[in-house]
Amino acid sequence: MAAKSGKKTLRRGSPEQPKPAVGLVRGLWRTLYTLFQKTQVVQYPHVKEEPHPRARGVIGLQAENCTVCMLCARECPDWCIYIEGHKEKRPPRREGGKPRSVNMLDRFDIDYALCMYCGICVEVCPFDALHWSPEYEYSELRITDLLHNMERLGYWDDHRHTPPPLEAGAETKGKK
Ligand code: SF4
Ligand code: SF4
Repeated sequence: MAAKSGKKTLRRGSPEQPKPAVGLVRGLWRTLYTLFQKTQVVQYPHVKEEPHPRARGVIGLQAENCTVCMLCARECPDWCIYIEGHKEKRPPRREGGKPRSVNMLDRFDIDYALCMYCGICVEVCPFDALHWSPEYEYSELRITDLLHNMERLGYWDDHRHTPPPLEAGAETKGKK
């Protein structure tokens, strides 16, 4: 039967059978080796790590760039961006032209209890109004406090790091 199924039976004590003592010694050696390696653990909150400037900590909003286009809210897979706005009439740009209608932002909230930090909202914003900040200390005791309003999102944006310079030649990429 064993020959038909193609399986090979190892006999106890045969040279091909792994010896239990070898595995034990290897395991102990690995434990000892790891014991004397430099630890990667940081004693937070007494010691704080400095995240990479482009780390995905929290999203900041530059409200003056937002045109209430709703693209980020529509693309967000978790539906955790809440935007409200209204239209205002503005004088025409040229004499004799039509009055302009502009969108004014009234509310912009992100619910970090739902957000999965995918970054789609930051990527799709056509007006560069959303940015990542590496800040990560915003845990709350109440889940409802994870809803960050426009003011708080503006604070995150004001405190984001300056991103590292673009790689050589990056500015000319895509230009014809
Ligand atoms: S990071 Fe993703 S889940 Fe979070 S608000 Fe943006 S699009 Fe939504
Ligand atoms: S995509 Fe950008 S401009 Fe449009 S609503 Fe969102 S943040 Fe504002």
